[in-house]
Amino acid sequence: MTEPLLVQKYGGTSLATAARIRRAARRVAGARATGQRLVVVVSAMGETTDRLLRLATQIHRQPPARELDALLATGEAVTAPLLALALETEGVPAVSLTGLQAGIRTGPHHRRARIVDVAPRRIVAELEAGRVVVVAGFQGVVADTLDTTTLGRGGSDTTAVALAAALQAVRCEIYTDVRGVYTADPRVEPRARLLREIGYEEMLELAAVGAAVMHPRAVEIGAAHNVPIWVRSSFHPRDRGTLICREPKLETRQKVRGIAHQAAVAKVTVVRVPDRPGIAAAIFTPLAEAGVNVDTIVQNVSHEGLTDVSFTVSLSDIDAVEALLPAVVARVGAVGFVADRNIAKVSIVGTGVLGTPGVAARMFQALADAGINIEMIATSEIRITATIPAGAVETAVRALHQAYRLERL
Ligand code: ADP
Ligand code: ASP
Ligand code: MG
Repeated sequence: MTEPLLVQKYGGTSLATAARIRRAARRVAGARATGQRLVVVVSAMGETTDRLLRLATQIHRQPPARELDALLATGEAVTAPLLALALETEGVPAVSLTGLQAGIRTGPHHRRARIVDVAPRRIVAELEAGRVVVVAGFQGVVADTLDTTTLGRGGSDTTAVALAAALQAVRCEIYTDVRGVYTADPRVEPRARLLREIGYEEMLELAAVGAAVMHPRAVEIGAAHNVPIWVRSSFHPRDRGTLICREPKLETRQKVRGIAHQAAVAKVTVVRVPDRPGIAAAIFTPLAEAGVNVDTIVQNVSHEGLTDVSFTVSLSDIDAVEALLPAVVARVGAVGFVADRNIAKVSIVGTGVLGTPGVAARMFQALADAGINIEMIATSEIRITATIPAGAVETAVRALHQAYRLERL
């Protein structure tokens, strides 16, 4: 019988120094000593990705996405061989692979490419030869051009879960700088409680609205292939961490599972747009074509045939939006647009959110009591998101955590 296969992923903080890379190698060696085959996915060391991004913008004001991807992928390409070397010194035979060598194929969209296919022939061959396979995370290639793509910030998680799915691993372990998934970002709410288990659905929703501990696409792939994902601390080896799975054991009867926030958001209002069919498409199609992700959209009631349309985008996209909008405004016959760069979002997530009377009201009351003005509201079946001033975001997270008593079981 072949040994069970485990995929482990180590984040940037966990690999920030030579000593930490050696520590990760000892962890890998320990897992291997228990008779498992291992694929290990790595992020870039520490703040490398941010540093590379800054370097690019010192040279070019708006670096083309293709070159940025080629640049950013080098971060992970450095860590993979370093970890393979550290494993060799532990007496563990290892080989490092880039995304291309690992068979990670993506769609053509740079900066937030989606994995379309994994062809893990090389990985399988290396595993059969008895080696630990160390894969550079966050990157893939476009099948026909072999151009390098990256999977979006935090995308190494997605490499790991996609490989776990493709290789039918027994589980995927995400090693990071916190002990698991909490009821809120523990750096913002020190009283946040560690969740022992959480379902894919709730985790996906939390990740999509800012819980950076997991990349949303990783959770989606995990759900589609039913991969058990364990989020654990690389600094506390004995901790169990959080299991993300299909049917989590319910620890509580709480309707709200957690709070997530996004700090770097911008809000745009297109002012006095003629209210007629096709206007929304005329505004949002050019943004979509430019690869801008638009979230909360609000169209006001119209007066005398004119309406305001507001939406939010990530702060990192606002320059692109501001460049595109003058032409859009002219085409639709609007008066103009205004952009506010000091926006944040705070969300409550839980399968009981919309089905239970009073849950929404409690959110709005808690924000009101904290003196926070809500600018926009968006809902999904298991989430409510409020758009608020950026300066209020941490207060909002703590107020909501308190309002739903999330520190208690
Ligand atoms: P890595 O480099 O290991 O991938 P990330 O910085 O991407 O680490 O993700 C871990 C961070 O996610 C934590 O340091 C924490 O600040 C943040 N975070 C946000 N929301 C949560 C949450 N609900 N539970 C745990 N961590 C969270
Ligand atoms: N290094 C990439 C980033 O900082 C990918 C990752 O860490 O998952 O976003
Ligand atoms: Mg991450």
